[in-house]
Parts: sequence; structure tokens; C-alpha cells
Amino acid sequence: MVPTFKIAVLAGDGIGPEVMAEAIAVLQRCAEIDKFDIDLNESLVGGAAIDATGKALPEDTLSNCERSDAILFGSVGGPKWERLPPKQQPERAALLPLRKHFNLFANLRPAICLPELSAASPLRPDLVQGGFEILCIRELTGGLYFGQPKGTHEEHGETVAIDTMVYRRSEVERIAHLAFGIAKVRKRKLVSIDKANVLENSLLWRSVVNEIASSYPEVELTHLLVDNAAMQFIRAPKAFDVAVTENLFGDILSDELAILTGSIGMLPSASLGTGYHGYYRFGLYEPSGGSAPDIAGMGIANPIAQILSVAMMLRYSFDLNDTAARIESSVRKTIAEGFRTRDIHSEGTRLVSTKEMGAEIRSNLGRAPSLKASSSMPDQ
Ligand code: NAD
Repeated sequence: MVPTFKIAVLAGDGIGPEVMAEAIAVLQRCAEIDKFDIDLNESLVGGAAIDATGKALPEDTLSNCERSDAILFGSVGGPKWERLPPKQQPERAALLPLRKHFNLFANLRPAICLPELSAASPLRPDLVQGGFEILCIRELTGGLYFGQPKGTHEEHGETVAIDTMVYRRSEVERIAHLAFGIAKVRKRKLVSIDKANVLENSLLWRSVVNEIASSYPEVELTHLLVDNAAMQFIRAPKAFDVAVTENLFGDILSDELAILTGSIGMLPSASLGTGYHGYYRFGLYEPSGGSAPDIAGMGIANPIAQILSVAMMLRYSFDLNDTAARIESSVRKTIAEGFRTRDIHSEGTRLVSTKEMGAEIRSNLGRAPSLKASSSMPDQ
């Protein structure tokens, strides 16, 4: 039987709708080629939803997501809504509640530096020659951002601010299983990043990761302290494959890795939940960047991050590894042919619009060989 995948499409603000249109067109073409059905349901989110309904995450949008197997998200926010009270601002009032509601505990951000774009990296050419890809897996719902007590109070005549870092064994176990499961079907190399020389949390983290490692003997596990990891990523990015870490460290390191690739417009992301809808692992898929208000409406945004978010959705929620690889190889081919949006354009390459880039990637889909996936859905 041909499966039907139900997808909530939340394009959001700024460049969101422009890049989403290209990503959806790629998805529709893949569905034709690889013969699966998609049921797409669009909803408002972010600033667009505030303008229409007064809320960044209206009930209709949330119930559309609840009825779906995955969420394809664009981006939210922009100057128009920046003056709203912090709690009503698009990112805080839409994205964070979605993460919480669906218990999206794992954030996957691949830092992909294609060989043809290695000149865009701020690193020395000999360090990035041939490109690199590091998948950063960040625990998203625990640690310092959510631990209690949290707050600011007066004590002996001065102001004191408290944040608490808390991890439970079960939280470390589930992210470790996910990371090992993903590493197992990639290059079988996993680095776990912590601060075990100082933090109790990290001692627990390291001992749980070591325990889980015994279930994945084929994966080579190493540990790095977070300060050393920050240096090693810069010194030798090609030495890494999959990295797993807790919330705060992952927040910082995933941005460091993003800038090492040279272009935020190329980078997708996935936030995976604990929930399964039938067979499908629920997830939210979005570009790593924001709504880019400085270029919104100009037709020049790079749609690749959104298109590769579709590939991640097919791989991690729907187990369509060959179709995901089809999209990824089509993107690589299009870049190798010299097509560039403005953010990655350099002399000697062909400057194209958002729509033209989307069209080139689509036209390469049919021709692109359906390569074996470089990464796949974990066993869990
Ligand atoms: P941004 O990522 O939107 O933009 C940073 C720079 O990268 C800009 O110069 C932009 O033009 C460029 N850029 C980003 N994506 C691009 C693409 N696909 N193609 C070409 N260039 C691209 O970050 P910012 O300027 O800090 O934030 C802008 C707005 O986005 C803010 O309102 C912020 O709150 C919001 N934001 C939303 C999300 C989200 O929805 N997940 C994430 C980050 C920021």
C-alpha cells in the first residue's frame, strides 16, 4: 500500500513562505518519483498568525500539528513584532510552546560544508578542503534552560539571579540512544561533549553515555570536555561525524559549527520528539537560520536549508532514506553545476533567484541517482 504522510506546513514570516514554496515543490516532485502520498495542511504561525488572530500559535495551528505526522516549519519573527512584550513575541510564543507541547527533546543540526563552498568557510583552506559534515545532536528540553529553581531575588541588599542545571538519567539515556542509533548508520563515530571535570551533571551524563555505549559496540565513542571541543571543531572539523551534548553546550557549539560552514542559508535542522504517530516518529523540521527580514520578499533567499529540512523529515520521521538521499544529492549536483543564490555567490558561479534555485534542484531530482543514505533513522 502507498503510504500517506500527513504534514503540517507552517511557513511563518519573512523569507519563510518564499523558501517553503520551493521545499514543497521538491517534496511533491519526490512523491511523484518515489510514489508516496502526502497530505499537506498549511497553518499560520508567528507574526503572520499574530496579525490574523492575535496569537503566535493559534489553537487551529496546534490542532493541525497534532493531527499530523510531522511539522515542516519555516521561520518566525521580524521587526514588526519586536516591540511586543517578550512573552508574546513570535519565537517565544510559537516555537518554544511547540517544542514543549510535542516534547521535542533532540535537536539535530548538521553542519554541512560542501567541497564547492569550502571557500565560504572562515577556516583556513587546508582545514576544510573537500568539505565536511558534522551532525550536532543537542538535548533540547533539559539542563540549565528549564531547571528549577530559576529566578531573581534580593539577598542581603543585592540582586541574585539563579538558574539550575538538572538532568535525569532517563533524559540522558534517551538522547544517548538516539545519538548512538544515528552514529551507527553513519561513520560509526560519536563524540560526547560534557564538562565532567567540573559539573555533577556531566559526571552523570558521561557515566550514562558509557553505559549505553555497551549496546552499540560498532560505534567508536570518545568524550571531549566542552572547552576542548570548541577548539577541536576549529582545528580539525573533518575528524568529526556525530557529536552529542546537553542543552546549553549544544546551543553554543551548534552555532559555532554553523559558522564554520560559511552559510546559514544551507543548513537544515530537526527537532525530534518522544512521540510516535503510528510508525512515524514525530518531528519538527526547519532551517537553522531565522526569517531574514533584511532580504524577505526580494526573491533572493537561499531555499536549500528548507529543502534539506524536507530531506531530514523524510529520513527521520518517515524512514524514506533513499528519497532523502535523492534530495541531498540533487542539492550537491546543483551546487556542483555552479548555481548560487546571493548568500553563497562568488565569481565564476551563476547567480540565481530563490525560485530558480528551487527549479534547478527539482530538475536534478529525476536525474540524481538514489544514493544510499549517508545517515538513517535510528533503531529506537
Ligand atoms: P537570520 O538567520 O534571520 O539572519 C541572519 C543573516 O543570515 C541575515 O543577513 C540573513 O539575510 C541571512 N540569511 C538567513 N537565512 C538565509 C537564507 N535562507 N538565505 C540567504 N540569507 C539568509 O537571523 P536574525 O537576523 O538574527 O533574525 C531575524 C529574525 O528571525 C528575528 O526576528 C529572529 O527572532 C528570528 N529568528 C527566528 C528563528 C526561527 O524561526 N526558528 C530562528 C532565528 C531567528
